[in-house]
Amino acid sequence: MTTGLQACPVSRNHHPNLWPPFTSITTTPALEQVVRGEGALLYRAEGPPLIDAISSWWVTLHGHANPVVAAAIAEQAATLEQVIFAEFTHPQAERLASRLAQRTGLDRVFFSDNGSTAVEVALKTAVQWWHNRGEPRQQLIAFDGAYHGDTFGAMAVGARSLFSEPFDPMLFPVRRVPWPQTHWNDQTVEASEQRALDDLALALQTPTAAVILEPLIQGAGGMRMVRPQFLQAVEQQVRRAGSLLIADEVLAGFGRCGRLLASQRAGIQPDLVALSKGLTAGFLPMGITMASEAIFQEFLGSDPTKTLWHGHSFTANPLGCAAANASLDLLEADPACHEQFEQRHQVRLERLADHPRVQRVRLCGTIAAFDLVTDGEQGYLNPAGKVLRGLVRDQGVLIRPLGDVVYLLPPLCISDDQLDQCYDALHSGLDALPGR
Ligand code: PMP
Repeated sequence: MTTGLQACPVSRNHHPNLWPPFTSITTTPALEQVVRGEGALLYRAEGPPLIDAISSWWVTLHGHANPVVAAAIAEQAATLEQVIFAEFTHPQAERLASRLAQRTGLDRVFFSDNGSTAVEVALKTAVQWWHNRGEPRQQLIAFDGAYHGDTFGAMAVGARSLFSEPFDPMLFPVRRVPWPQTHWNDQTVEASEQRALDDLALALQTPTAAVILEPLIQGAGGMRMVRPQFLQAVEQQVRRAGSLLIADEVLAGFGRCGRLLASQRAGIQPDLVALSKGLTAGFLPMGITMASEAIFQEFLGSDPTKTLWHGHSFTANPLGCAAANASLDLLEADPACHEQFEQRHQVRLERLADHPRVQRVRLCGTIAAFDLVTDGEQGYLNPAGKVLRGLVRDQGVLIRPLGDVVYLLPPLCISDDQLDQCYDALHSGLDALPGR
């Protein structure tokens, strides 16, 4: 039988046994081997070191191979590497939970494995909360352009996209509301916020289990930022409707936006918060879902159907918890480093903003972003970002634009010289960018 399919050659020199994520293998050159990391630098098997201007998928909060985090993990590995968390607890988990509760006002900490699972737990908790109260609600509201992870529940609340397409018919329905993204010198933001709030008010007329959002910045959806006052208005509406508010802070949390939680900077108090990425300083995969005491209370009682029957083999892994405590130690030892990072971007970004290939400039904490001026269509498949990525990489800087959206998301430890190199590389890359 013939299928009519041509064998598709795997691109040059890819490892025969690896299947990399988010990678169109045929059109992507072989992956380079990295042998060592230190601070903001990645050392490759061949060639000069690269400045990691994206914190390796937004995780390495304090830089590569940070000695404080590395030592904490090593010590924990030699003490207790893992224990079944349903029978036992351990000092690292208890310390971390107390510290996070104290810093956020959310009293309960549920551990899982990554950002997607932290979101799954938040969604399941919200839906079961209503179920446990005897007032089941199924509607979930999410925002246009959202990205919450790649597992089925997280995909369902995320925007439908190229990534989700094969699964779209299987994803549960979610009510969608516009996300009034803004940028420097945006004259229309108030009108677009009002439209979004009007839509949200309409959506909330249907009893709603929860509204989920990425506070201050939608990451994978294109580094799309909103103003704190919009999020405060959303919270007010959610409270009026008696619904729950979930903040997915997998990217935005843990100092990325200038405060421990982006919600704190935005001036909102969600019922559930999902954390990952910078939580363990990018050393180990771990997720946390924080919940208010009012959420937790509905899961108590002798009726077994009230229990949150959810868990993972590696729940509250002691190495992950040790890494997270060390990551928090580092944030607390030098708060100015994350609280004032935005100023370091600001001066450099102002200069870049004048470049003719740069538009819709935006900045939040450690994250600076803009859209490329191109002739192509806006979005993830716009090839201009890939071309820029190559040009910038030739200058020793690693970026990974999302289509035509370019961003810098460096580790906190990046030096001023290294940050200058990132901006210089962007400048010369933009000068050399074909088209226009
Ligand atoms: N939520 C947000 C806001 C994210 O940015 C991501 C990852 N980029 C996730 C959830 C999913 O996290 P993970 O990749 O660890 O599953």
